[in-house]
Amino acid sequence: MTDFLGGRPSSTLGSSSYRPGLTPASLDDVFPGFVVAALREGLQSVGNRMRRFVHPDALLIAAETRTSSPVRLLRDTETLQSPGAAGLYPAGEGAGYAGGIVSAALDGARIAERIVAGP
Ligand SMILES: Cc1cc2nc3c(=O)[nH]c(=O)nc-3n(C[C@H](O)[C@H](O)[C@H](O)COP(=O)(O)OP(=O)(O)OC[C@H]3O[C@@H](n4cnc5c(N)ncnc54)[C@H](O)[C@@H]3O)c2cc1C
Repeated sequence: MTDFLGGRPSSTLGSSSYRPGLTPASLDDVFPGFVVAALREGLQSVGNRMRRFVHPDALLIAAETRTSSPVRLLRDTETLQSPGAAGLYPAGEGAGYAGGIVSAALDGARIAERIVAGP
């Protein structure tokens, strides 16, 4: 973070629990200019109000490009089951019915209620 805010490319990185591993890179080469400008302004603004937020050990891990499934499994609107496999209830993000934690939870709850209600 300190390199990013100082406009310097990082040559080394501190330790991280991010299991795929990290490679130093300049976010200026990853995002368009208006995005890095907004990121710098936002991070600095929070750093001005929150002590130690801009910390030499803080790592910026990017880019997260997709969080939602690009496909949607078919499911009957009444039974919520797959039309091709009775008893299979496509649900949540992987099946294409959610795009985040809350929508995945709500979709799961809806499926559970439908199963409890019976055929
Ligand atoms: C890096 C990242 C950041 C995110 N940040 C946010 C955020 O800030 N806010 C937000 O709202 N959402 C965020 N999301 C999205 C959110 O995590 C998902 O939308 C949500 O977890 C989907 O819930 P789910 O139950 O549908 O799927 P999952 O949480 O993926 O659960 C699927 C489960 O099925 C299990 N499974 C898979 N295959 C099998 C199998 N064959 N047999 C048995 N079990 C199996 C998996 O082990 C897993 O436990 C983020 C996602 C990622 C990747």
